[in-house]
Amino acid sequence: MNIDDLEGMVLVEVDVQNDFILKDGGLPVMGADCAVRAAIMKTHGWARECGIPIIATMDCHAPDDPEFKSFPPHCVEGTAGYDRWDSSGSKKDVFVVPLREIPEEDILDALAYCPMIQIQKNTIDLFSNPNAKKLFEGVKKAIVTGVATDYCVKAVVLGLRNLGVEVIVIKEAIAGVDLDASAAAVDEMVSAGAQFVLTDDIVGQK
Ligand SMILES: [Zn+2]
Repeated sequence: MNIDDLEGMVLVEVDVQNDFILKDGGLPVMGADCAVRAAIMKTHGWARECGIPIIATMDCHAPDDPEFKSFPPHCVEGTAGYDRWDSSGSKKDVFVVPLREIPEEDILDALAYCPMIQIQKNTIDLFSNPNAKKLFEGVKKAIVTGVATDYCVKAVVLGLRNLGVEVIVIKEAIAGVDLDASAAAVDEMVSAGAQFVLTDDIVGQK
């Protein structure tokens, strides 16, 4: 794979948050084992080294969120379950895109100057955030990692393909809730034009 051209490339990390990643989290994704976590972090480190902006989606709910009728409570803003599983969320270089609409220039500034942008969402689909389309306007290629394959990863990948963004998913750096549903989700993403590669296909290159 030719990834020489890093212009317009971002890493999209989907919901790498305690409630999903930790086994005792609010809504643990059982497939997110040590190997998956290691692949997520390896890709994260590579992106930082190459200066590729990291866009991290953050599932974000109020304590009485309607989603909790369908799923156990998880990722309530202000709780430890909401926080990033790794420590990157506490760094000063993070810009948070909230659920309410913000000026486009703030988003463009963040993309240009912040190594990591966290964008909040309170449904499975990232593009329910009114700022999401603007955030990806100048993006040509997205590398995708995170959880869960059969829910939010699928929604992000299909949403990006819909915008015409080239999508490369790192096979070992995603994990799903249900095996069959995850396999079906992968088929759907491939049909939509997403490529699936191994970590070393990307991280082995500079
Ligand atoms: Zn949620």
